Amino acid sequence: MKVDLAIRGGRVIDPATGLDREGTVLVSDKRILAIEAPDAAVEAERVIDARGLLVLPGLIDLHAHCFVGETRLGLPPDRIGVQQGVTTVVDAGSSGVDNLLRFRESVRGARTRVLAYINLARDGLARHRGELADPRMLAPDETVEALRAHGGFLVGVKARASASVVGDQGIAPVRLAKETAKRAGVPLMVHIGNAPPRLEEVLELLEAGDIVSHAFHGKKGGIYRDGTLLPEARAALERGVLFDVAHGQASFSYATCRRFLADGLVPHIISSDLWRGNETGPVVSLLHCMSKLLHLGMPLQEVVAATTWRPAVALHRQHEIGSLAPGRIADISIIRQVRGQFPLQDSEGVTEVVSCLLEPVMTIRHGHIVGDIGPGGISA
Ligand SMILES: [Zn+2]
Repeated sequence: MKVDLAIRGGRVIDPATGLDREGTVLVSDKRILAIEAPDAAVEAERVIDARGLLVLPGLIDLHAHCFVGETRLGLPPDRIGVQQGVTTVVDAGSSGVDNLLRFRESVRGARTRVLAYINLARDGLARHRGELADPRMLAPDETVEALRAHGGFLVGVKARASASVVGDQGIAPVRLAKETAKRAGVPLMVHIGNAPPRLEEVLELLEAGDIVSHAFHGKKGGIYRDGTLLPEARAALERGVLFDVAHGQASFSYATCRRFLADGLVPHIISSDLWRGNETGPVVSLLHCMSKLLHLGMPLQEVVAATTWRPAVALHRQHEIGSLAPGRIADISIIRQVRGQFPLQDSEGVTEVVSCLLEPVMTIRHGHIVGDIGPGGISA
């Protein structure tokens, strides 16, 4: 039998199945067919030599901003997606009920899979940055309806719990966001930043499967107080709340994350929070974020899990993406580990020299090769 694609001899890591060995990935009819031995005799339309490379389930960036045009922060999804080795980009609340349809339309031609959390604020992040400060702009009922009507695109509700966002409303808009998510049966993604609301009151609202974005920021009022993990943070972790890096411009601290790892804990999810203001640094790409976590000592298998299987579960899409198990959609990221000395900055202005940088080589999305590296990078 002749398959469509054979990716031969790479190190195949699939945390969902516990696989980590050299192998040949076979793709047929846009789905993963099987993983065979590196030297297995196969007949394929196209053979890709992946020796010396990592062959991973298509990477998922759970937090980015890709609503171009209507928000000032949006980046084209393919630029942060398939061109950077990422097959799924999830927009974190750039749109609300008023501009959701225009957002969907704007990403229709993307080769990257785009999913989205809907903002509780009716115009998302289009107008200004204090989107939850005016209760008249919050749209809980319409948001529930939109989540029901756009279930293939929307994956949850987004709210930003920062003083600059909620104004004098305190925890109220975040509580309303949680109620809204619950009514629709989807998770809440909550951005944490400067109080009020206090982190303790935000964490207490969250249930298993809800997501804390920017969990490892270096600002005051974070998950550590005087060097000790906040009891509310520990309790949230124990009940299954997911802590996501969501690096961003101001939200990732080497020191905070290093302390978390030293406590024997591991970030569940690594996402970029890429937008127009941080693409040239300090974020650059999801692969750069992953390289920083590797540098901090997070094992490669965990880094891969945090960008494939765990975000797929958080999205309730694990039956389709996030794994190389036979039958899954053939979203595959082929990545090179480059050894050297790479100074990479966190969001606190701290530069550390990273010795292994992950680079995109080829992106396969739904069985199609959409990014193939050339001298100028991946083209899509
Ligand atoms: Zn964001």
